[in-house]
Amino acid sequence: MKAIAVYEGTDEPVVTEKPRPEPAAGEALVRTLRVGVDGTDHEVIAGGHGGPPAGADHLVLGHEAVGVVADPNGTPFEAGDIVVPTVRRPSDGGNEYFSRGEPDMAPDGAYHERGIVGEHGFMSEYFTSPAEFLVPVPPGLADRGFLVEPLSIAEKAIEHARASRSAFRWEPESAFVLGNGSLGLLALATLRDEFDRLYCLGRRDRPDPTIDIIESLGATYVNSNETAVSAVPSAHEPMDLVFEATGHAPHAFEAIDALAPNGVGALLGVSPDRTLEIDGGRLHRELVLHNKALVGSVNSGYRHFEAAAESLTERSDGFLDALVTGVYGLDEFESAFADDDTTIKTAVEFGAYEKR
Ligand code: NAP
Ligand code: BGC
Ligand code: ZN
Repeated sequence: MKAIAVYEGTDEPVVTEKPRPEPAAGEALVRTLRVGVDGTDHEVIAGGHGGPPAGADHLVLGHEAVGVVADPNGTPFEAGDIVVPTVRRPSDGGNEYFSRGEPDMAPDGAYHERGIVGEHGFMSEYFTSPAEFLVPVPPGLADRGFLVEPLSIAEKAIEHARASRSAFRWEPESAFVLGNGSLGLLALATLRDEFDRLYCLGRRDRPDPTIDIIESLGATYVNSNETAVSAVPSAHEPMDLVFEATGHAPHAFEAIDALAPNGVGALLGVSPDRTLEIDGGRLHRELVLHNKALVGSVNSGYRHFEAAAESLTERSDGFLDALVTGVYGLDEFESAFADDDTTIKTAVEFGAYEKR
């Protein structure tokens, strides 16, 4: 079967041939439909994050998949079920985080991430997975189900941010998403359900398709070249929630200034090492004297995937059509990895869905 992989010492994905995997006991064989591409894939390809399985000279890419069960192999699935795989797998045969259903809280060394670190991903015509890591989704999500994983990332981060404010009466109204990439825009659409006023940060000038999406969601676009994150309270209003999805390290600290008293910042970006000059004393005081919180969040658990699948069915076709700028077959897979201002969210299509 064909797979898309990045080989060690290179920084370009290629199509490669692999044997079709045989499901072991407890695993189902899944025929891959579509696999999405995000900022993490670009970081993995560039060698800035993750790496191949031990002893392998390449990593099969892809962690945002949707597929159809080809061989249930004795698992509770039926052939033809549409499934979305979760990303983390135990690296040691099993540990307490996985038994508790909280793999997203596992420390380094206790997990691999398929398509990112230590285990091959889903960008192949078939993949196998233990049934417990396959989330069934409605057949209607066969085409857009590759958005379930990134939406689950937003679901978890928002849950954790909210939990950090659960000891008192918190009635948030304003939310500020930093980043107009696919994660930022999916988070913005999710936050729209609960927040009265939304803002989203980018660094692009008009005309730009992400600014059109931001405004179609009823949010205000903030250009970081004109308004610094820390100046947003004076330019607009203090924010009850900040959702950082730029990976730009200064934003982690500027978010503290953007927050209203009692507000919370959820940090999701994965930035490279970077030395910054900041007034740590002032930021420390700001956090303490105004009951502010910063919450880091990575990955997501099974229930976040379930919530994401449900919320995906509620997103408007207009938003999703504007967000997904391209779905490409294996013959033109390079286009799915384009990183330009007209590309927002892309996927590689490995096979078509035929209704059973
Ligand atoms: P992405 O497509 O690269 O999006 C990042 C966006 O931030 C881009 O649109 C970029 O604008 C914008 N940006 C960067 N620096 C900026 C600045 N100084 N001012 C304004 N906008 C700026 O990546 P993504 O897939 O949406 O993911 C976002 C980040 O979250 C990445 O760091 C990724 O690694 C991380 N991530 C984390 C998790 C997790 O579990 N924690 C999950 C998924 C992704 P331009 O396009 O104009 O450059
Ligand atoms: C993936 C997560 C993963 C994180 C860190 C994200 O792009 O969606 O599942 O935990 O990267 O590797
Ligand atoms: Zn991702």
